Amino acid sequence: MTCRVGLMGWPVEHSLSPAMHNAAFAALGMDWEYVLLPVPPGEVEATVRALAARGFRGANVTVPHKEAVIPYLSRITEAAHAIGAVNTIIVEEDGSLTGENTDWTGFLAALEEAGFRPGGQRALLLGAGGAARAVAYALARAGARVIILNRTPERAEALVRDLAPGVPAGSLQIGPLEPDTLAWEARQASLLVNATSVGMWPRTEESPWPDGLPMPSHLVVFDLVYNPLETKLLRQAREAGARTVDGLGMLVHQGARAFTCWVGRPAPVEVMRAACYDALRKGGRCSDS
Ligand code: NAP
Repeated sequence: MTCRVGLMGWPVEHSLSPAMHNAAFAALGMDWEYVLLPVPPGEVEATVRALAARGFRGANVTVPHKEAVIPYLSRITEAAHAIGAVNTIIVEEDGSLTGENTDWTGFLAALEEAGFRPGGQRALLLGAGGAARAVAYALARAGARVIILNRTPERAEALVRDLAPGVPAGSLQIGPLEPDTLAWEARQASLLVNATSVGMWPRTEESPWPDGLPMPSHLVVFDLVYNPLETKLLRQAREAGARTVDGLGMLVHQGARAFTCWVGRPAPVEVMRAACYDALRKGGRCSDS
């Protein structure tokens, strides 16, 4: 019988994940399929509880359910607990459910692929939503000092309060997302990460970096947004002479780690990356986060 995994979210129809995972299953000759599970907010509990009975071996979880699934799982990993979000559910042999977060390791893998070592570095992180939590956790655990700037200060405060017990003391700081702070902090940092949704299709002419503000050329600029692949922020960075990293690597690596959780073998990362590029070229729109 075909083994199934799926993506729980609302909406999910423009996701790249089915293309990425189904290409991986096909490349390895596995009788598995990845399907979309559109789940309205009122149906999270019923969907999670029915996964094993419906023959699912696991699932990815995306916006807006990454926190909402947690009460219905048998256990969650230390990282998922610290970050406060689950993006991968594993259905164990006995039918129990484990919640994992592969966004943070996916981010670190993409950073490593880009040749950036975060240990001892100062990183400027824009945003304090679910993705920013995973990135802040990843960078702080890897030994970076992280300055978090967010439009809504209370959300950044909550991020630091929640993550503090799991990361080195003093590794997270917050500030306002406004031009003077951005300019000053960017001069001190070696890495700038955009974990806001600003610049994402269809609002591709927006950037968290204000027009006219010079961007330091020494920065590595990582945008989690991957649709479009070159966001306005990355264009600004490229034009300033800074190094750029787009969000596709993180998407692929979080998917690869989820794949391994489900099937217990290494994921064909390059097959998955090629499938994502292909789906984006064909006009796939993102809702995987
Ligand atoms: P989220 O929880 O909804 O958080 C959104 C963040 O963006 C918040 O910090 C929010 O600030 C900020 N924001 C939204 N509009 C803004 C604006 N006009 N000006 C300033 N800040 C604004 O979303 P998320 O799950 O963290 O995802 C964030 C982005 O990361 C999305 O584009 C998503 O596609 C991407 N992502 C990519 C990957 C990957 O694998 N590459 C993985 C996860 C997420 P407030 O707190 O002030 O509202």
